[in-house]
Amino acid sequence: MLTQRPRGTADIYGSAIAAWRALEEVVHATFRAYHYEEIRTPVFEHTELFERGVGETTDIVEKEMYTFLDRGERSLTLRPEGTAGVVRAYVENKLYAAPGAAKLYYIGPMFRYEKPQKGRERQFHQFGCEVLGSDDPAVDAEVIALNVDVLNRFGLAGLTVELNSVGCPVCRPEHRARMVAVLKPAAHRLCPDCQRRLDRNPLRIFDCKRGCREVLAELHAPSILDALCPDCRQHLAAVEALLTALAVPYVRNPHLVRGLDYYTRTAWEVTAPELGTVGGGGRYNGLVAEVGGPDTPGIGFAVGMERALLLRELQHGPWPAEPRLDLFVAVADPSATAAAMQMLQAVRQAGFTADRDYQGRGLKAQLKQADRLGARLVAILGGDELARGAATVKDMASGEQRDVPMDGVVDLLRRLADGAQI
Ligand code: ATP
Ligand code: MG
Repeated sequence: MLTQRPRGTADIYGSAIAAWRALEEVVHATFRAYHYEEIRTPVFEHTELFERGVGETTDIVEKEMYTFLDRGERSLTLRPEGTAGVVRAYVENKLYAAPGAAKLYYIGPMFRYEKPQKGRERQFHQFGCEVLGSDDPAVDAEVIALNVDVLNRFGLAGLTVELNSVGCPVCRPEHRARMVAVLKPAAHRLCPDCQRRLDRNPLRIFDCKRGCREVLAELHAPSILDALCPDCRQHLAAVEALLTALAVPYVRNPHLVRGLDYYTRTAWEVTAPELGTVGGGGRYNGLVAEVGGPDTPGIGFAVGMERALLLRELQHGPWPAEPRLDLFVAVADPSATAAAMQMLQAVRQAGFTADRDYQGRGLKAQLKQADRLGARLVAILGGDELARGAATVKDMASGEQRDVPMDGVVDLLRRLADGAQI
């Protein structure tokens, strides 16, 4: 136990870090281009926020939340997704008072008690965004295009958007009634979860992973697209026209439902043939009011970062190794320690990467270590060098060696960076 991490968690280190960092940089750069602001909300919130904001009939709330009582007997939950916290922050900090729509993005760990498998963990990471304050279908199209763009910028190809409308409080009740009428007589063929969903949220049966979807197909369950009211129909048509104008590849999927209750109209998933769903989002015009704020339309998406990284590796192989070390300083004699540290300090402060041995190894072992670390140059400092006031500098690629004044190493590294030869 002591030396074993909890099931469904990961230690991210070593060569994986470069890929994570690269993804994070793409995320920040992309959202900057679309003029979004980053928001960082707590990792835990009052349990009630997720019950309300995610929805009591969702898998997340029904069986996936990490909920605990703190020492003050408050029920808190590790966030299973990012939207509820962002919406809570938007209301609590009255961000709606600012002019224009709020465009916010986040990045961070999420927690769900799931069965761990490839691309599915208990602590995983998402980045995502929320636009609050506009019902314009142009926003839907732009957010969907952004969802694809950020993944494309990370080098992911062959992505498709699956698009649907889940209707609104005007047209969904009738659709729901029609679904219940078709499914009630066959209720016994549904899994226990879906039998409950039949009463509480029948649309979600389309999201079942235990075979109920086949039952739906067999019974020719009605399509939400046939039930949409004129406003929802028009909204969907406008989104589709704009996606076409932006050359975003999409297909309609009338069975797509997002796992969350507060979605209205536009819902989508971004899928890759190698892996399935990488991320998805939807419009949620009812959510801000649901958590106690002014009636405000919203839309957003979330991308699973482990999945994006997995897909990147499937498409391009392992992430290339980190840039190598510019300089390794080998200390040939303890009397040179201070001079070595001064050189390291100067080189590092000039923006180069420099390292040394910390375990008192002999010169030969230090040179071996420098080689293993991929150092471009090694500066050897010992008694002789101190006396001469110059370090012995070795180019590890050519094996060439020469004396460089103690304070000339930074200059040499600058010239090498500009393409000069040693
Ligand atoms: P799924 O149907 O795969 O369970 P979901 O509908 O629960 O997905 P969302 O809540 O929409 O997923 O989360 C958006 C994205 O976050 C998913 O597309 C996926 O990439 C990622 N994600 C969700 N749950 C996990 C998890 N347990 N581990 C890793 N990534 C996850
Ligand atoms: Mg899930």
